[in-house]
Amino acid sequence: MIEQESIETLKNRLDIVDVVGRYLELKKSGANFKANCPFHDENSPSFVISPSKQIYHCFGCGAGGDSIKFVMEYENLNYPEAIEKLASEYNVQLRHTKGDRDNYHDKKILDNYNLFFRKQLTLFGPAKEYFLSRGVYESSIEKFELGYAPHSQESLQYLNQSGVSMKEGLELGIIAKSDDGRVYARFSKRITFPVFTAGGKLVGFGGRIIDQRENVGKYINSPTTKIFDKSTLLYGYHKAKTTIMKKGEIIIVEGNLDVIMLHQAGFTNAVATLGTALTQKHIPLLKRGDPKIILAYDGDSAGITAAFKAASMLSHLGMHGGVVIFAKGIDPADMVKEGKSEELKKLFAKPKGFIEFCLEHIISQFDTHNPIHKEQALKEAVTYLNTLSPMLQDEYKGYLSAILSVQERHIHLHQAPQQTMQTTQNPTRRHEDIAELSIIKTLLSNPRMIDRILNVISSDIFQNHKQELDLVIGNEIEHPLLAGINIRDDIKEYEDEEFTRQIIFLLRRYYNNELRKINSITTLSLNEKSFIIRKIREVLNRLQRGELVPYENFL
Ligand code: ZN
Repeated sequence: MIEQESIETLKNRLDIVDVVGRYLELKKSGANFKANCPFHDENSPSFVISPSKQIYHCFGCGAGGDSIKFVMEYENLNYPEAIEKLASEYNVQLRHTKGDRDNYHDKKILDNYNLFFRKQLTLFGPAKEYFLSRGVYESSIEKFELGYAPHSQESLQYLNQSGVSMKEGLELGIIAKSDDGRVYARFSKRITFPVFTAGGKLVGFGGRIIDQRENVGKYINSPTTKIFDKSTLLYGYHKAKTTIMKKGEIIIVEGNLDVIMLHQAGFTNAVATLGTALTQKHIPLLKRGDPKIILAYDGDSAGITAAFKAASMLSHLGMHGGVVIFAKGIDPADMVKEGKSEELKKLFAKPKGFIEFCLEHIISQFDTHNPIHKEQALKEAVTYLNTLSPMLQDEYKGYLSAILSVQERHIHLHQAPQQTMQTTQNPTRRHEDIAELSIIKTLLSNPRMIDRILNVISSDIFQNHKQELDLVIGNEIEHPLLAGINIRDDIKEYEDEEFTRQIIFLLRRYYNNELRKINSITTLSLNEKSFIIRKIREVLNRLQRGELVPYENFL
């Protein structure tokens, strides 16, 4: 790693206004500066830079952080890369510790191996011909760094000559060991697709056979390694990121080649899952910039089932977008090759909304001419609707009634949506509590006070901003939720005395609520209840006299 001390030296040298000002045109606005956000498309500036806090925050898309974070996001760099870049621009000498040389070494191994594959592609005619026959341009081969993995023996020889040890090769997933202990190159006689993180760091490969071999997977990916987890990655994201943010839209397809061909046809916001279903682990990446999500899947039953699962999850999480299903046997790569870009454009412009798609898919599984089956279809559709927010349940009641032709009075909704809805709701839509927010802002400006209050309060006494308080206590100061609070002018910071008074106010509110709860608790005996009530009243009395009584959970 880069030594913390030299990072601090660099940080002290940086001024957020100067750093961001090198990329964007800034306008003065009170104590802050404003600009049009580079991370999402907007006409009126909601991107704020605070010289006093040395942070930026976008009220439109939630992007935020310090100078280093900005350069990471804007230039698609990872943390050390951004540090290196800023250090050279601001003439700061960096010192490195030993661990960093290891990371650097891993990266070098994969980068060089990728160069080796790319070189092999130029040497092995059939591989190049395969790409050209699928309609892939030379420029796309360059852009996506496509290559060819030769026979295992050749790759092993290359790795050996480059000084890559067997341990390193195994760790990085480029060498594998068979049950009988034989060592071989994991990718052999396959065209290769390097896989990058959102920040553009090479972490693994996909490989596809181009001959008629049997008993091997047509398509394989790197195994899970310390740097590669395919269920968190999206193929092509690092190249699609800018368009995704600008356009506010992301297209998810099933194959690497689909991504490449779509980019070639101008759909530069296309990405693909790496041979896995879309899962919860992809959500953090998908949420960046809050784009509309278009699932563009194959028309075979596997594709439709995958689309249904993904659409159920995304609609349940309250994310917006829709589904495009291609005609059976046709994929977007072929459509681009056949010059059907206009047709694609029309398809992507009118995806079927997640909820409509899910309801129609559920009903299509039943023979609705048969009343018994129809009733079952209704049951399943209602079960699905009940995973949505109450408002959406209401909105789609009529739709379900129409497509299933049942009367609305037979559709019984309004079970509480499942718990996960709460954590994924857009935080700006929650109720705001200025007293709680002010305490958080005060703590952000005076980190010393965090220790002082640790014994006195817990996030239990917060009603609306528990998550933010936990972030402060957990020292996750750069979390976007906190940056948003830190930069707002309408939330004030408390002076010492006022701060204590506010904490006491929150404690009193908390204990009064606890008192109300006690009677409804059935597991306590009358004696226990009156004992607890007495205890809480004592605390409340002391609080009322202005004494800061440490938080205690009596229930
Ligand atoms: Zn923004």
